[in-house]
Amino acid sequence: MAYYGSIEAGGTKFVCAIADEELKIIERISLPTTLPEATLEQVFTFFDSYDLTALGVGSFGPIDVNRKSSTYGYITSTPKPGWRNIDLLGALKARYDIPIAWTTDVNAAAYGEMHLGAGKDTQSCIYLTVGTGVGGGAVVNGVVLQGFSHPEMGHISVQRYPNDTVESTCPYHDNCLEGLAAGPALEKRTGIKGQSLAFDHDVWAIEAFYLAQALMNYTLVLSPEKIILGGGVMKQAQLFPMIRESLKQQLGDYVALPPLEDYIVGCDLEDNSGTMGCLLLAKEQCA
Ligand code: ADP
Ligand code: ZN
Repeated sequence: MAYYGSIEAGGTKFVCAIADEELKIIERISLPTTLPEATLEQVFTFFDSYDLTALGVGSFGPIDVNRKSSTYGYITSTPKPGWRNIDLLGALKARYDIPIAWTTDVNAAAYGEMHLGAGKDTQSCIYLTVGTGVGGGAVVNGVVLQGFSHPEMGHISVQRYPNDTVESTCPYHDNCLEGLAAGPALEKRTGIKGQSLAFDHDVWAIEAFYLAQALMNYTLVLSPEKIILGGGVMKQAQLFPMIRESLKQQLGDYVALPPLEDYIVGCDLEDNSGTMGCLLLAKEQCA
């Protein structure tokens, strides 16, 4: 009997799961992200009672995914206290002498959704989460897209919505998608948390404009078959038609897109996109 493990290592919580050969989840746990040592102690407690075959890890970042790098497997320049330059993969490898897949949290979610969720019928998708930050992952021809590092789709430059002068919430960029459209930006612009905003608030048009602008750019660069949107902010279902409409307007008729209701969609796996992606990556380590 093979057991596959999954760790979705997030900035606020670590979601760990164990699944059988069919990727049916046997046990799942959510642990608060405290400091690395204490968090890992709890992770080990969870996995130690299983004879794991392989593990898949999708981590918050930035992380080092370059196998040739001396810091491969590290969480690198995160602002999260205590987690900068932490060898997360190394710590897991020291504990478990098994194959371990290592990628970003959003790549894992993209992989899970593409193979088992909203992108099941496709080979190439983008997954974008709009929450505390904005992060994106791409699967191209069935494989997670990585280069010298992993994509940072949340930090692309966007043009400002007319007369939008709110300060960017990204400490690095004055005009990036995350700084102008993540949950904290919504709150900065309105003084109200996203989840408490009325569904017909004016701010959603601004939000849709920024997200559509980003999707236009991803579309032009990667031409994915589908774009899957998740994260807390995307619980606002009214955003979907607004984004589709804005995309159509911003793109003009330059590229004939797939039907927009099929092209821009929500997640199918809900809270399990990342977990299923990690499990699948774990299983593939043994193929
Ligand atoms: P995280 O990104 O930390 O994993 P979430 O995806 O839940 O977690 O994102 C949290 C952010 O999303 C916060 O800024 C919060 O205000 C915002 N948010 C959460 N739920 C909603 C909602 N239903 N509508 C709009 N914004 C939301
Ligand atoms: Zn930025």
